Formats: sequence, structure tokens, C-alpha cells
Amino acid sequence: MKILVVEDERKTAAYLKRGLEENGFVVDIAESGEDGCHLAETRRYDLIILDVLLPGRDGWTVIGDLRRGGIEAPVLFLTARDAVRDRVKGLELGADDYLVKPFAFSELLARMRSLLRRGPTRQSAVLRLVDLEVDLGRHRAWRAGLALDLTPKEFQLLSLLLQRSGEVLSRTLIAEQVWDINFESDSNVVEVHVRRLRVKVDDPFDTKLIHTVRGVGYVLEART
Ligand code: CA
Repeated sequence: MKILVVEDERKTAAYLKRGLEENGFVVDIAESGEDGCHLAETRRYDLIILDVLLPGRDGWTVIGDLRRGGIEAPVLFLTARDAVRDRVKGLELGADDYLVKPFAFSELLARMRSLLRRGPTRQSAVLRLVDLEVDLGRHRAWRAGLALDLTPKEFQLLSLLLQRSGEVLSRTLIAEQVWDINFESDSNVVEVHVRRLRVKVDDPFDTKLIHTVRGVGYVLEART
């Protein structure tokens, strides 16, 4: 489980990181709203802990930007005061829960577990293979937690290979499913797109996932 903590007070951030890591979470810290937005947009998190009072872009602005950008990880707000107005504002902007500082660590964990059980605000199907993740609803893909910059066709091709991972898919079938065309024997559109996809999905990583089955087609699987 990966958690993003957006908190400018170093002491609080360090305390949260240590406590969460002791409880088995993987934690990234952002010390400003700008950094928080950047991390949330380029990596995938299971939950975001967001302080309201941040220099520059505050927590309200950050959650607005995240939700507009399609980031649907649950967000737990940390507020300094228990004002009903603040709470309502946070929930209206798309926060999933809030916690008033100072809080007991055990309460934070309980709130987090409840949010993680509930899953993303709007559930979308995420397919996974090793460290490859594809979110079909949001049209986003990650490898080793890093966002992959794919064209719509590359995304469709990767989704098809992942949905049927372990199965060898012929060029004809891929052409029909992704391009909605009948395969012409002299067309190399599938080969070209598989090559481009490999550059993004496989080349930077040790474990290759896309394999060619000579004379047949392609298969996405983890080979040891
Ligand atoms: Ca703060």
C-alpha cells in the first residue's frame, strides 16, 4: 500500500512516515501543495494524507486540482481546528475523511484502514501484472509506480494484452480489437505499435512483459 503524505511541517511528516512504515505502508512525503500534486499525478497512491495549511497551494486547492485531474485515491484531510465550516468545505471538495490535529496515531490508522477498505471514491477497474498497473476507467497506466505516457491506441493495445495476459494473441485479433479493422497481410500496424509500446513499457525495466511468439503473435506475461 502506497501512501502520499502532503505536510510542510517536517517533524510531523517524519513522525507520520516512521509510524506508517512501521505499519507496513510505503510512504512518500511532499512538503508543498505543488509537490503533492506533481507526485499524485505521476505516481499511483492508495491513499493521500493532506494537510490543509500548506504554503502556496493549500490543501483546499490541492484536492480540487486532484479531483479535477481524475485522481481518485481516497484523501484524508488533516485540519488544525475542528471547525464545522472547514470539515464541510473539505468534504464538498472531495475529501473522504478528516482528522483534527493533534490526533492519536491509532486513530489515524483506524481511519486509513476504513478508507482503504472502501477503495477509490469512484471505483474503477485496475488490472495488475507484476509492477504493471492499468486503470481502465481513467485510461492511465503505471510501471513500477511511474506513469506511462501512452497514446490512446497504445493504451488500448496494452489493456487488451493485459486483460488476456498469458494468452497468445494473433496480429489479426489485435488488429480487429484495437483498430476495428480486418487484418491485411502486408499491414504492419500491429508490429509498429507493439514496438512503440515496448519502448515505454519494457525497455526501461529489467523484467520484460511483452513477448513475441514467432509466427503467431504476442503475449503479455511475466517469465522467470
Ligand atoms: Ca501545515
